[in-house]
Amino acid sequence: MIKFGPSGTCEQFAAQGFTATVQAAPWLKDLGLDCFEYSFGRGVRVGEQTAKKIGAVFAENDIEMSVHAPYFINLATLDDQKAANNHEYILSSLAALRAFGGKRCVFHPGSPVGQTRADAMDTLYRRLDALMSDVLGAGFGDLWLCPETMGKKAQLGDLDEIISICKRYDMLLPCVDFGHLNARDTGAIKGYDDYARIVDKLADGLGDFKTINMHIHFSKIQYTDKGELRHLTFADDVFGPDFEPLIKLIFDRKLQPYIACESAGTQTADALTMKNYYNSLCEAVK
Ligand SMILES: [Zn+2]
Repeated sequence: MIKFGPSGTCEQFAAQGFTATVQAAPWLKDLGLDCFEYSFGRGVRVGEQTAKKIGAVFAENDIEMSVHAPYFINLATLDDQKAANNHEYILSSLAALRAFGGKRCVFHPGSPVGQTRADAMDTLYRRLDALMSDVLGAGFGDLWLCPETMGKKAQLGDLDEIISICKRYDMLLPCVDFGHLNARDTGAIKGYDDYARIVDKLADGLGDFKTINMHIHFSKIQYTDKGELRHLTFADDVFGPDFEPLIKLIFDRKLQPYIACESAGTQTADALTMKNYYNSLCEAVK
């Protein structure tokens, strides 16, 4: 089933006086949303008992949870200590995901830092193989790890790189951040056909299952010639990309993605705008 929801709690949630993540579950359900991505941006700072309590309340309200692993993961690092830290960040993110009752953990692949792009990808595969042996050994093979397409040209994680990473293990599912793809290619997504090319490429590389069930991050993003600068809201009409042609494509192709909206502060309202648009397409063919 397709799911729409926010990444993190939004400004509207705070303005209504809510402070605890757990309060977001009934709030999102009342709004008609389906999912919630919990971000461990600066570290995994939730204990197992707390995570289980939060997960139980989200389950009661039928809101599926996902997690975003810490942002400073770099699988292409040449530093063995940093590589060991990466394992810790991913394993603790997966343990929290398990306690939340979720299935999907998003992570950033990393950056070349002092290597050519090709060498960095070789390093990444070496680190990934070691990481996956730990992940599978720890019993997390039933969860999805989702490497994300990144917004800055210098970062690893263009669409081809994410496809080749996801080919390597069954449990790797692409996180396609369309705002990032648009930003790194300085405005390349103009409409339906551009979205269709991305989805076709995914299907060619990864097959139908990983394409139909892909993880999606969506927001409009301001960019420079180097790529991503900052996340915007749906009020932006300069940088894009527009969500309507993507939702139309998802509807036409009968895709069932988990869509986390990452708008700056308005992520819940913007997720709902996307869901309402999707529902209007469903209604129109009834
Ligand atoms: Zn991300």
